[in-house]
Amino acid sequence: MPNTQTINGTCLCGQIRYKAVAAPLFQAHCQDCRRNGGSAFAALVFVPIESLNWQGETHSFCHNSDSGNTMTKHFCSNCGSQMFGTNSAKPDRIHIKVGTMDDAKWFQPQCNVWASSRLPSTPVSPDVKDFATMPPAPTKK
Ligand SMILES: [Zn+2]
Repeated sequence: MPNTQTINGTCLCGQIRYKAVAAPLFQAHCQDCRRNGGSAFAALVFVPIESLNWQGETHSFCHNSDSGNTMTKHFCSNCGSQMFGTNSAKPDRIHIKVGTMDDAKWFQPQCNVWASSRLPSTPVSPDVKDFATMPPAPTKK
């Protein structure tokens, strides 16, 4: 079980500020989030949705996952920084984009999801397990 973290962060322009105090539920690199984040992959931390509070105006965009669930991306209404994401199949959790965190040195991805989409130039760590698509849902403890 990961330690409880106090996670603070902001968007590029500073309009959005957030805080979550939570033991992360899941930490991952996602190779399928390239278009959304404009980078080679996304670094994500999932926390219980009730642990996250934010100030400032976000806009959101919904799209369907391969499994047919509604994915909602929340981004700053002013500067467009991608901040958070939710999945209709798991409404009790939300992911935070690690790149928006003030201090993310503790971040340790547990796996690469959608590794089948990895760009050839993306470094691979032998300590981080690959899943070709999404791993099976973790069992509740
Ligand atoms: Zn902003």
